[in-house]
Amino acid sequence: MGVHHAWGRTYKDMFQRYKAFKGFDLRWQNGFDCQGLWVEVEVEKDLGFKTKKDIEAYGIEKFIIRCKERVLKYSKIQTEQSIRLGQWSEWDKAYFTMSDENNYAIWHFLKKCSEKGLLYKGKDVVPWCYRCGTSISQHEILTEEYKELTHKAVFVRFPVAGQEKTYFLVWTTTPWTLPGNVALAVNPDLDYSKVKDTKGDNYILLRQKANEIFLKEEIEIVETFSGKSLEGVEFKGIFDDLPAVEKELSSFSRRSLAPSTHQVILWKDITEEEGTGVVHIAPGCGQEDFSLAKDNNLSVIDLSDEESKYKKGFGFLESREVYKEEQRDWIIDNLKDKKLIFKVENYKHRYPTCWRCKQELIFRLVDEWFISMDKLREELIESAKQIEWMPGFGLEREIDWLNNMHDWLISKKRYWGLALPIWECSCGNFEVLGSKEELEERTVEGWDEFGGKSPHRPQIDQIKIKCSKCGALAQRVKDVGTPWLDAGIVPFSTVSNDNRAENIPYFHNKREEWQKWFPIEFICESFPGQFKNWFYVLLVMSQVLEEKPPFKRVLGFASVVDEKGEEMHKSKGNAIWFDEAVEKISADVMRWMYLKQNPVNNMRFGYGVAGETKRKLMTLLNCFEFYKTYTTATHKSYATHQSSKNCLDRWILSKLNLVIKEATENLDRFDAMRATGVIEDFWINNLSLWYIRRSRGRLRESKESQAVFAFVLLEITKLIAPLMPFLAEEMYQMLKTKEMPESVHLCVWPKYDESLIDKTLEQEMQERRLIASELLAERVRMGIPVRQPLIADAIKKPLSFSAIDPGSTLQIFSDEANLIIEDETTIFKGFNAISSKITEEMKEQGLVREIVRQIQTLRKKAALSPQDKASLYFAGDFDLKEVISRAKKEILETTKCSSLEESPEHLGSFVAQKEVDLEGKKLWLALEA
Ligand SMILES: [Zn+2]
Ligand SMILES: [Zn+2]
Repeated sequence: MGVHHAWGRTYKDMFQRYKAFKGFDLRWQNGFDCQGLWVEVEVEKDLGFKTKKDIEAYGIEKFIIRCKERVLKYSKIQTEQSIRLGQWSEWDKAYFTMSDENNYAIWHFLKKCSEKGLLYKGKDVVPWCYRCGTSISQHEILTEEYKELTHKAVFVRFPVAGQEKTYFLVWTTTPWTLPGNVALAVNPDLDYSKVKDTKGDNYILLRQKANEIFLKEEIEIVETFSGKSLEGVEFKGIFDDLPAVEKELSSFSRRSLAPSTHQVILWKDITEEEGTGVVHIAPGCGQEDFSLAKDNNLSVIDLSDEESKYKKGFGFLESREVYKEEQRDWIIDNLKDKKLIFKVENYKHRYPTCWRCKQELIFRLVDEWFISMDKLREELIESAKQIEWMPGFGLEREIDWLNNMHDWLISKKRYWGLALPIWECSCGNFEVLGSKEELEERTVEGWDEFGGKSPHRPQIDQIKIKCSKCGALAQRVKDVGTPWLDAGIVPFSTVSNDNRAENIPYFHNKREEWQKWFPIEFICESFPGQFKNWFYVLLVMSQVLEEKPPFKRVLGFASVVDEKGEEMHKSKGNAIWFDEAVEKISADVMRWMYLKQNPVNNMRFGYGVAGETKRKLMTLLNCFEFYKTYTTATHKSYATHQSSKNCLDRWILSKLNLVIKEATENLDRFDAMRATGVIEDFWINNLSLWYIRRSRGRLRESKESQAVFAFVLLEITKLIAPLMPFLAEEMYQMLKTKEMPESVHLCVWPKYDESLIDKTLEQEMQERRLIASELLAERVRMGIPVRQPLIADAIKKPLSFSAIDPGSTLQIFSDEANLIIEDETTIFKGFNAISSKITEEMKEQGLVREIVRQIQTLRKKAALSPQDKASLYFAGDFDLKEVISRAKKEILETTKCSSLEESPEHLGSFVAQKEVDLEGKKLWLALEA
């Protein structure tokens, strides 16, 4: 796993845990994608293979075994990593898509498609990877698979038939497709011109482009006409001398024209942006060209084979790889010899590459298996509308895809994957088998070789059935299925108690069992790509099988990028592996980062961001640390937490109920970002920065307040339990009493009490916090350190006293800003005023406070806990010694030291000592443990 895998797993685990907390019945079944090209390519790399021929030479059976081994090895690693992340699952019940039940479930689906007349074998021009030797489905080419590449673009002269020295000027970025040319296309609605150059050659091209391609003084515009008027104009083919081209053109019987005639056709999609407005059409090498050929009854020249080499009959090009730059040069040179090249230039464009091996794709004519989508399109759109999409733009994106998708290409000319259950007969008939039982029943040959193994290649290829049309033996097509079939069948193939095929309820008349879980409540996946992939195939397969949406709501999230916002790549060196990250930052920090992220935006992952998150979690840990260190009670008194009358205690309980309410509501609507936001805000701004800060003294003394504090912490551990399971458990173990469940993960979700949310109290506390911070700011302006007590002359009147009385209010101000407030009845005015007058007595108070602070840091330095006894020694300036003697009792009480003695400096063995400078006077302090 890379760190990006942990995002989805964190969501999935967190919502599962949360729902379990709330008492829901859940399925704890992890799944592993096992089949497909992505496994094959890795095994090929391990074995050093370059092409499919290497696999065949190695032996398909051995190769498949290596694929299975790889899946088992990595699924084990991924299981361990998921456990490390804190993911809950019944790991020994995980489903594997290579299992028999998964494969037979897809057979069932394909048979249903066949029965509904949706499955067909068709010729189409599809994106093709020559290295992988397979077609790539339209939905597998995502935006990120388009790369900036530079190719040679050529301007070619196509001679107009019957007109001397007159040419259509054509521009193409794929010169290798020129031998497949059968027609030229122009836009009927744009203006074209015939221009004459200084050599007397005439060119037909877009009027707009004439002055861009030629220098103005070089040409003369002979005439201008609409594109429409060019329809049917004949031109001479530029590769008609190649035997394969000649043969295809002359044998194309549907065409009404004389053999080897090429014509101009009309095509409204041609734009003025690029090229010359005259487009070369090679129906065997382009998807749009292919559909134009269907509409215009054009012949289709099939150029390249599986390895993307020119087929037989292409003369000097035969068995050359079409994608190689040299071959393009060959073509260009040939055309130069024929004096048909006008210009060659380098052209940079975005070009699709293979999602798996990153080689550039070409388009070629293939025989593949498709599921027809036109009949399903409207139903799928209706189905998508019934789903709750999070984020909301998901529905729009899904519908956009459903409106634009082509038929679903499901076959791959590969080895490791679902064996398509299609048996083809030489009479043209094909039959689809829908189950293991049907396979056994229909087999007439090859059962022994199949040997009851999993329905994979190569053993399944041995099975022959009897054609029900002609009685001859039919053979399985060699193709395997796209792994997206595996991804889409999940709602049907995984609901079982013991994960064996014969017990899968959907297929074995236990629909009631299955219906308990269908449609699925919630799915979650990174959205880039999934509108065209997983979400889409789930919709399709469920529509065919059950005619309804397979899930009720979906949470999509963006991608993980590095801290600078750049895509993570192994080759770039900025990828972060899960193992490394989890050791460095811990699973809970990682989870918190992901959960706090807005799922709409890319997550910037890095150790800098992790550090910030960690600091926030440290605040929470420090609250626990304070509890552990200073409170001596009182899990036993949780129940008494409601009896405190103290305004800060009542306030933190109000805030606690509010945060439980808000966290619950947000988690119920699957909004992890807001839920984590309110919880974190609670522990930082309310618990740490106000409640504890203003309650330190009280929390050391009052059992009642300690009970409140303990109760608040206990409820937080429950709130964070689904989010950060490790931290929550550690804290819980500190807080739990014998009567409580053994683990926080066995507790029930905290309930909030609306009546304890006191909006007036919260409002009044907010006003006081504001004034307190103003008083502090005023002190900063005066330049007098906070340790020095000052007298408050006037304090801005808080708006109301209905929840917090004036006495408590003044206590808050005097504690927060270290003020001496003498008269509560006259002090509240419309402004703040602090007197800069410092009496000797006040000055001494400030000094004592500073000395206490120094002793506390010394205790910390010595790593003493408050319970540890320590003796304190001091020496130094006479005045300071006097101050210490006078404040001895106070110092001993607050610093929890057992004795305080004057001592000759630096004599004795101390656990910690230091010399400090207090207003120009020296003081030496030392601790003896
Ligand atoms: Zn590839
Ligand atoms: Zn037959």
